[in-house]
Amino acid sequence: MIVVLESPNAIDTLCAEIGNARMVPFLGATPPLLVLPEAEATWGPRLAALPGVQRVLSPKEPVLSTHALQADKARVQVGEICFGGRDIPVIAGPCSVENEAQVVSLARTVQANGASLLRGGAYKGRTSPFAFQGHGEDAIPHLVKAREATGLPVVTEIITPEDLVLLSERIDLLQVGARNMHNTALLKAIGRTKTPVLLKRGFGSSVEELLFAADYILAEGNPNVMLCERGIRTFERGVRFSFDLSAFALLKSKTRLPVVVDPSHAVGNANLVSTVAKAAIAAGADGLLIEVHDEPDQALSDGDQALTPDAFSALMSELAPIAAAVGRHLLGVPR
Ligand code: PEP
Ligand code: MN
Repeated sequence: MIVVLESPNAIDTLCAEIGNARMVPFLGATPPLLVLPEAEATWGPRLAALPGVQRVLSPKEPVLSTHALQADKARVQVGEICFGGRDIPVIAGPCSVENEAQVVSLARTVQANGASLLRGGAYKGRTSPFAFQGHGEDAIPHLVKAREATGLPVVTEIITPEDLVLLSERIDLLQVGARNMHNTALLKAIGRTKTPVLLKRGFGSSVEELLFAADYILAEGNPNVMLCERGIRTFERGVRFSFDLSAFALLKSKTRLPVVVDPSHAVGNANLVSTVAKAAIAAGADGLLIEVHDEPDQALSDGDQALTPDAFSALMSELAPIAAAVGRHLLGVPR
């Protein structure tokens, strides 16, 4: 049973009333919650009548990432960039940070073409243990250099809670990869910071599971959560994953969090990225994540799906009028 509190202070009254029933407090969440995992349904009316209690819910559905308790849409600020408003920011850059020169030069290139944030993987959560795993900690200073050179906030994936201190200090937006969406230790640890996070949907996970994963982070008190649709596994072998537009529509209708679309991983093929990116903007995406590489055939990971700088530039020009047609503004591209 979830008891929704009017303020964290209400917990004292509740403790006195409930006695020694087991309680799991989430007092940093908005609104603050008290979970009673062993409460019986019959307790509901008595708990709801206590002072400081807003309402009592059964924990069957996600409540913090949805409109269950808050009607308004959340905005997430990453440096100067705001997600969830009228502007649509684009995150672009290589799959992996390969070296300093590469990431600094790509940061300048994507910025010149309208990107608002730079992405680059340092720690790579790969399917195969024999695939390139990223340069790890050594790659972080390269991202910091790229931010210094351009002012672009930087985005990188976190794969273990042990890296949280290092990454929270240096990285503007943490990405939780599709393969880690269910890593609850990681979600809880990120929840105990205020660092913005982009939570990707697992490629075999439902919309509800994604929302519960977001609730893990929100419950610990970090409100700066965004979701990412990056494609799911289907029977179609011609694409790497399948962009799940139906689930995107469902997600947008349910969540109060900004939703970013990653067409690069959804299709896995540079020739198909722009079609999905355009559909995503038309459908109401609050941001895009696009992989760009200056020499895709030399890329250490995901070269097949990387746009060249020219293709990225062309795509940005095509996206701007689509954003305008749905009442939005593609950030970084002149109005
Ligand atoms: C990535 O963004 O490079 C990545 C590995 O994404 P995903 O977790 O969606 O596969
Ligand atoms: Mn990638």
